[in-house]
Amino acid sequence: MLLPQEIIRKKRDGGELSREEIAFFVKGITDGNVSEGQIAAFAMAVYFNGMTMKERIALTEAMRDSGEVLEWRSLGLDGPVLDKHSTGGVGDVVSLMLGPMVAACGGYVPMISGHGLGHTGGTLDKFDAIPGYDTAPNNALFRKVVKEVGVAIIGQTGNLAPADRRFYAIRDVTATVESIPLITASILSKKLAAGLAVLVMDVKAGSGAFMPTFEKSVELAESIVEVANGAGCRTSALITNMDQVLASSAGNAVEVREAVRYLRGDKRNPRLHEVTMALCAEMLLLGKLASSEEEARRKLQTVLDNGEAAERFAHMVSALGGPADFMDRYDDYLERAPIVRPIYPEKEGVVEAMDTRAVGLAVVALGGGRTRPSDPIDYAVGFSDFAALGERVDGQRPLAVAHVRSEAQFKEAQRRIRQAVQVGESTPEPKPMILKKIAKE
Ligand code: URA
Repeated sequence: MLLPQEIIRKKRDGGELSREEIAFFVKGITDGNVSEGQIAAFAMAVYFNGMTMKERIALTEAMRDSGEVLEWRSLGLDGPVLDKHSTGGVGDVVSLMLGPMVAACGGYVPMISGHGLGHTGGTLDKFDAIPGYDTAPNNALFRKVVKEVGVAIIGQTGNLAPADRRFYAIRDVTATVESIPLITASILSKKLAAGLAVLVMDVKAGSGAFMPTFEKSVELAESIVEVANGAGCRTSALITNMDQVLASSAGNAVEVREAVRYLRGDKRNPRLHEVTMALCAEMLLLGKLASSEEEARRKLQTVLDNGEAAERFAHMVSALGGPADFMDRYDDYLERAPIVRPIYPEKEGVVEAMDTRAVGLAVVALGGGRTRPSDPIDYAVGFSDFAALGERVDGQRPLAVAHVRSEAQFKEAQRRIRQAVQVGESTPEPKPMILKKIAKE
């Protein structure tokens, strides 16, 4: 008979847990037979002693199987089921374009997205900014939209990986979030419960990233790639640059506007385009929808140029309850803040560096993100027209344009952005957007 305290003791003393022990403990997390104190002690033991890849795979699979696991086979789809997951960024609006682009190239993307976490924005919050769009459809509608449109981006449904929900809430208050084995299992249990054949991870590195250093981002990416492949999902990871706001905007409605303009071909921020294309191309390659990077990029450019990706987005929005003419009248539908005003730099010069995390926190401070899970969100607030690293800013070219509710909010937003963006006379060395690719050996 297994005992939770003996499993904790073994991990505390640096031992390797068996699949059976891990499955027993995870079952206890899910059904309540393991106490909060035991879960906290287990998390701390893993935090200090780590886990072998074998243990990580067993933990991920047990957490994946703690609730419902979606299956797509019975739909008889004529292409692979794939998804992308990002560790979170600021102005990271990639999913809104990537889903429709990959669908237009023959893939099926059932994307289960989340709210913003800490300083990072959440895809779910961005879709909630679209009036009428239902981010919590029933299972039948979710499946119908995936089959008919090729992409459905929604929020966490009923019972996917319930063990993670309890485990994460306890880690959050016991200083045990920052453990690579636990982050790996937490992210992958939710993604694998969505029944994917292919996953591409976007692990951010830089001043707006969740992981504190480039080396830690690489370590997380390597762990995720090995564990996901070990659990039967073809997975690779790109380490991408989060040293500045990825899009030109940060907030909810402002980012949706940018995504629509991108898909329509009105304006494409080159950094955002590079990261989106690289992640989409990797998905097409792993999903065998293209046989080379060049072919993948050619296909993706075609569906952008011929409007098919924009059409998929429009179809997804209307199928999930949003306006049928959203792509044409998005500006009327999306909420707009009463004050839209440039933030000029205190002195002119070149943008040398950006504290991207501080920019994300400025959005949260405006009400565009949450400080408590139950907080409501103000979709209209945020920033647009962000200056890029290396760009000259002065009395004509602002650091960004603030979208705010009041004069007091403008003052606070201006203070925060001026502090977050370093202006000087030296032009920073341009860094690539894709810093490293990690694939299965
Ligand atoms: N995001 C998750 O979903 N889980 C973690 O553990 C950390 C970030």
